[in-house]
Amino acid sequence: MVIDEILAHNERFVQEKTLPIIGHTPRKRMAVVTCMDCRLVQMFEQALGLERGDVLELRTAGATISKPERQGAANVLGVREVAVIGHTHCGLAHANPIVLTASMQAQGVDPQQLIQDEGLEGTQGLVDWLGAFDDVHVNVREVVNVIRNSPYLPKIPVHGLVIDIETGKLEMVDRG
Ligand SMILES: [Zn+2]
Repeated sequence: MVIDEILAHNERFVQEKTLPIIGHTPRKRMAVVTCMDCRLVQMFEQALGLERGDVLELRTAGATISKPERQGAANVLGVREVAVIGHTHCGLAHANPIVLTASMQAQGVDPQQLIQDEGLEGTQGLVDWLGAFDDVHVNVREVVNVIRNSPYLPKIPVHGLVIDIETGKLEMVDRG
């Protein structure tokens, strides 16, 4: 299993490397919200010039935040600036209800049960509940506004950007 590869690698890692001790307050006093897409692994930090300890990173499916109160944690960690960074070709963009329910069923999840349990309005309600969106730019602006309007955060700049998943190029959508 992959976990065995990981454990073997980790054994070598701790033998070869000694990490400097650093605090948990992000050096750049910034929180970054981005997607959990595997193509962003490593590439994201390299494209932004981020090092260990620089920023607080939140990764969600589609860089979407639906519960603004969770952002309250950013306050505690001394964050003074937030960047929401969606990406092109996101798996949550253009989510088709038919494809989505079929893939859920293939993984042994009953979409109808979920719709019933969560009190959703059919399959389109399910797509919305999962945080799917049509346009990444529109979604980034929405997430930016959710954070800006959060009563749990002090008034700090919140920026919205889109990163090109193929080239790593950033595009400013909404500067805070
Ligand atoms: Zn994504």
